[in-house]
Amino acid sequence: MRYLVTGGAGFVGSHAVLGLLDDGHEVVVLDNFSTGHRGAIPAGIDVHHVDLMDAAATNAVLGEGRFDAVLHFAAISLVGESMADPLRYFEQNYISSLNLIRACITHDVRKLVFSSTAALFGGPERDDPIPHDAPIDPGSPYGESKFMIERVLHWADRIHGLRSACLRYFNAAGADVAGRAGEDHRPETHLIPIVIDAALGRRPALQVFGTDYPTHDGSCVRDYLHVGDLATAYLSALTQIDERSVVYNIGSGRGYSNIDVIRSVERVSGRKIPWEAAPRRGGDPATLIADSDAFRRDTGWTPRLSELDHIVETAFRWREAHPEGYGL
Ligand code: UDP
Repeated sequence: MRYLVTGGAGFVGSHAVLGLLDDGHEVVVLDNFSTGHRGAIPAGIDVHHVDLMDAAATNAVLGEGRFDAVLHFAAISLVGESMADPLRYFEQNYISSLNLIRACITHDVRKLVFSSTAALFGGPERDDPIPHDAPIDPGSPYGESKFMIERVLHWADRIHGLRSACLRYFNAAGADVAGRAGEDHRPETHLIPIVIDAALGRRPALQVFGTDYPTHDGSCVRDYLHVGDLATAYLSALTQIDERSVVYNIGSGRGYSNIDVIRSVERVSGRKIPWEAAPRRGGDPATLIADSDAFRRDTGWTPRLSELDHIVETAFRWREAHPEGYGL
């Protein structure tokens, strides 16, 4: 099969590219390189340096491609940032996706897998795990922007027959088990790489945002899924959408607090990590854990790499070996 991967130079997208290649597929990457890295794309892959906000350029890529499906990762995706600049999130995530969906319809690409998010279940203090049919209540403009795109996809199927899988995934983490790719955000805002950098002595004490949540130790609880498991989830989702569109939650089903993550990095690194309590970060729900039973039942998918210490170990190895990430 021949796939277009938008955002293929980003953290999750680049691991999906590896998963598709390992499975014997042909891959083309589209990325605007605003946050992605050339070095994250394996050699020999066709790359379009295109911004999805550019409707004509997007249309041209889809027109040339003869793609069996599109895997759509490209987005801006920081909850905290979206609380500070909501309109940028609505504009960029919505319009870029609209351009892509329109180009798929124009050029008769029949399938699209969309990276949605658990952030559309951002209710204040929710009991877990969250099934895919739980009420939608985004806690941030980021979550809302993803939900808007889910609704476009719903109508793109009903009226144009574009089949889609919306994968609402929880916290993607870890690094390629073979060490070919890892996580490199600038600046880094995600918990696991920040804790690892503290363990490696590359940053001062880290801050834990909020220690008064109604959780077992007061810090937020998240469901961490290894990016390799996420890549196989995309392949499994593609098998589901010949006849109908689907929406699934994708996670490990287990929740770990921010302080649990610090303990895990201490176990893996063998080092003591300094941290301090800090105020809550805007837009953070107390707990997000996925109920992925529907996806597991329908596809047979199961996470194999998502033990927390294994996630941390793969991330630690990559970060230790790449002090400059993918370089400048
Ligand atoms: N977090 C933290 N300190 C940091 C970075 C993140 O306490 O320096 C917390 C954050 O507030 C959230 C959790 O770690 O409770 C996971 O945040 P992350 O940004 O990694 O992922 P998100 O859940 O926002 O997708």
